[in-house]
Parts: sequence; C-alpha cells; structure tokens
Amino acid sequence: MAQEDLFKKIISHCKEYGFVFPSSEIYDGLGAVYDYGQYGVELKNNIRKYWWDSMTLLNENVVGIDSAIFMHPTIWKASGHVDAFNDPLIDNKDSKKRYRADVLIEEHLARIDDKINKEIEKAARRFGDAFDPEQFRSTNPRVQEYQMKRDATHARFVKALNEADLDELRQIIIDAEIVCPLSGTRNWTEVRQFNLMFATDMGSTADGAMKIYLRPETAQGIFVNFLNVQKSGRMKIPFGIAQTGKAFRNEIVARQFIFRMREFEQMEMQFFVRPGEEIEWFNHWKATRLAWHKALGLGDRYRFHDHDKLAHYANAATDIEFEMPFGFKEVEGIHSRTDFDLNQHEKYSGKKMQYFDPEQGQSYTPYVIETSIGLDRVFLSIIAGSYTEEILDGGETRTLLKLPPALAPVKLAILPLVKKDGLPEKAEEILHALRFDFRCQYDEKDSIGKRYRRQDAIGTPYCITVDHDTLNDNSVTIRFRDTMCQERAPIARLGEIIAEKVSMKTLLKKIND
Ligand code: ATP
Repeated sequence: MAQEDLFKKIISHCKEYGFVFPSSEIYDGLGAVYDYGQYGVELKNNIRKYWWDSMTLLNENVVGIDSAIFMHPTIWKASGHVDAFNDPLIDNKDSKKRYRADVLIEEHLARIDDKINKEIEKAARRFGDAFDPEQFRSTNPRVQEYQMKRDATHARFVKALNEADLDELRQIIIDAEIVCPLSGTRNWTEVRQFNLMFATDMGSTADGAMKIYLRPETAQGIFVNFLNVQKSGRMKIPFGIAQTGKAFRNEIVARQFIFRMREFEQMEMQFFVRPGEEIEWFNHWKATRLAWHKALGLGDRYRFHDHDKLAHYANAATDIEFEMPFGFKEVEGIHSRTDFDLNQHEKYSGKKMQYFDPEQGQSYTPYVIETSIGLDRVFLSIIAGSYTEEILDGGETRTLLKLPPALAPVKLAILPLVKKDGLPEKAEEILHALRFDFRCQYDEKDSIGKRYRRQDAIGTPYCITVDHDTLNDNSVTIRFRDTMCQERAPIARLGEIIAEKVSMKTLLKKIND
C-alpha cells in the first residue's frame, strides 16, 4: 500500500473507532487542534503512565512535578523564547500557501538522498552479490553529482541557520529551484521570522493587565522549581525532575494530523549533573530513551538524528526519529543544555540558582541533560506502527491494531457466545470480578466473528468467550488478537493470566532486556 494511502487510512481509523477527532468538528474544525476520543484518551493515559513510571519508578533519583501553564512573562524572556522562538516563514505568491523555509530546504535535501539511494538500489540489483555500495557511491558519476549538490546546499543551509541569515535561506530556495508543491511555481516572498508563542492577558485592564504566554514547553516550569524540589526533597546531584503537560505553539505549517499540533502534550525530564559529567549522562539518557521506545515492540523503525545546528548553549543534541508513514520524523529530543537555563533564570530573577555539593564542598550551577518527548507524536508512532491489515483465508480483510498490551485502551472483551441459555449472566459475572483490575468490555451483539473484529480494530489484546461448556466446567476460551489462536483456561485463573500479559510491569521490564 502506498504510504500516503496508509496514512489516510490511519487517520480515518482513528476517527471511526473513537481515538482522535478533529476539534470543533461541527463548526468545520480548528486548524491543527484535535480531541482524543474514548479509546484515544485511554491509550494516551497509558503512554503517559509508561513514561512516568519509567522515569520515577525506575530511577530513585528522578521525581515529578506539575507546574502551572501560566508563568511569569519574564521566564520567557530569560529562556530566549520571546526573542528567538521563531520559525522562518516564506509564502508562495501564486498559491498563497505559507511554508517554513527550513522545512522546504530539508525536504529538498531528503529528495536528493532518495535519488542517491535509488541509484544504489538499482545498481545493487544489476550487479548482484559482487556489488560494493561504498565503491559505487564514490565512483559513479551521477551519484557523485547528486552528492556534491547535496553537500553544497547542506553546508549553505547549516551556515544560514546558524547565522539566522533569512536572505540566504531564500536564496538557497531559489538556487535549488524549489517549487511550491501546490502551484508548482518559484514565485516566493521574502523570508520572515514568526514567533510561535500564543499570548493572552492576565487580569482586567482596569488593574493593569499583564501580557502572558501559554507555555511553549514544559521545561521552564522545571527550571524555575529546581531549588524548591532540590531543597524540599533533599535531592543530591545527579537527580532529575519530570513533568508532563500541555504546551502551545502557533505552528505555521500545521499538517500531518497529530504530528504537528498547536496544542499538544509534552513529557519532559531535566537531569541535573556536575559540570564536566554531562556528556557521560547525555550518552546514558540517549541509550535509555531509545530502549524505552524499542520496548514497545514496534520493530526496527527508530534512528538517531544528530542536530546540524546546535543551539548556542548546547554541547550535544540528538533526536530519536520514528519511521512514520511520511518518513523518519522526530519524536523525542535529547539535549545537553549546559548551565544555560539556570544561569539565565539567575540573571533575570536575581535569585541564586546554585547547588551546594557536599562531596565537593563547593557550590556550582549544575549542567542539564534534557529528554523531551511529545506524547501525541508517540501516540501517532504507536498507532502507525501497530496498524495492520491482513487478508484472511476467505479473502476478508482483518484490520487490527497490534498495540502493546500494557497500552491497549481495553485489555479484555468478555463475549457470551449466544445471547441466551444463561451465557450472558455468566459473562457478566466474570466481568464484575475482573473489572477492578482491567478495563473490560462486555459485548453480546452480532456474531462472534464480528465482535472479534470490533475488538481487533481497537487493539484489545484478549477476548474471552463464554460458551455452553463454561456452565459445566467453569472455563472459557481466550482468543489472542495477533495470532487469533485460542486457548482454554479456567475462570479462576483468568485474572492471573491476563495480569501477566497486560501489566505495566511486564512492559517496564522490557526496557532493560
Ligand atoms: P520540530 O522540529 O518537529 O518542530 P522541535 O525540535 O521544535 O520539533 P522540541 O522543541 O524539541 O521540538 O520539543 C520536544 C518534543 O515535543 C518534540 O520532539 C515533539 O515530540 C514534541 N513537539 C514539538 N512541537 C510539537 C507540535 N507542534 N505538535 C506535537 N508535538 C510537538
């Protein structure tokens, strides 16, 4: 299936089965804002819990907080967001469409990479086993020409970004002959900076309203509480503070469903370390975070992408990218931010942001490693990685979400084979016993096959079928979502069997496997 078609199917599946709805839909929607439905909210809560537990249960030195969305406006001055949280935007005069100039160039570079890879794949097929891709890459004239063009554009791009040179960004777009995907023309405006923060007023104008911002990231709430947590929790460096919550960005190009939203949720952890030890900890968190993603069992669809442009205060940064239906995309960022943020808050607030290290007998401003992940992007990666269509023996298509059992919105469906003979009553008895531990669903409508399909579509890992034998032997059939295999099990053991399979503990343990 073409990737574009797959993505469309995923979006409509999310809507049809109550995972994600466009916001304000009856009023024709609101750009890049989405609502989570009855199953979406459960999946989202489970992902958040997986992250939270992995941070605060598996690390004795990581604790959580929940800071307010509204913060003192000077915080955003100190953090650099007021002056520099900008995207370079450019308009096509014919289509009137607005783009991020950096994204247009990145997409252009990715297209050249595709061309190179296609040449290599073609040659590999022609030459068979004897083919040496590296030699081909360094000697084939066509590949070399592509590579030279790519390298030259890339070098100019990195320089222009580092120097915030907007004219040069535009010139690269012109020189690379990048066209608007809609109008097909190269009729571009100048490149302008656009601040992504939403502003609002706090207090009434009579008593002097204050312009405040909806936070564009949760991290600053952690920095400004660093000493509160350190002192009240008697934390010793190294230690981390974790937080999840809403963030808001007025994204210019808000496409690709819940990948880029104007209101989204972040899960961030700032880890405070001794200066000089930050690269060691950066590597530690890089490995730990990749292991967290891989434990989800979505296959080999992750890669690191080191930043071309390091922020001036960072001394290492990487993204964890997931292979979405529209290519490899950032899901999480891991940044070594030095002592920049704490220093800035010390400067702007006039309050000391230092830590006294009892082992070293001296005070210093800690360095920070940040892990910052978008909950909605993980949600999308999990849906995209688990959406499966299978052709069954009879030619029928089965659509299922192979969600990690610990994250599935519904863990267990309890289905009486028929709606009579005392089977519904028996099924309800089982439901009442199990619902304290698992989110269960009772369904007696339609044929058993149709009910299985409904559960497959929302990713329920286990279905329990109550049949006539159940009344005599007190056992049921467990049907497994992924294999469709069935197993007989005594009702008395159901709780224990299911708990083992769907518990968060089982998933958390996989991180260290
Ligand atoms: P991008 O380059 O894609 O705009 P970013 O580098 O600006 O992302 P960060 O500021 O590092 O993102 O934010 C950390 C994480 O927050 C990202 O890895 C992503 O998962 C998530 N995130 C950022 N912006 C959005 C958004 N508009 N919608 C959904 N998630 C987002």
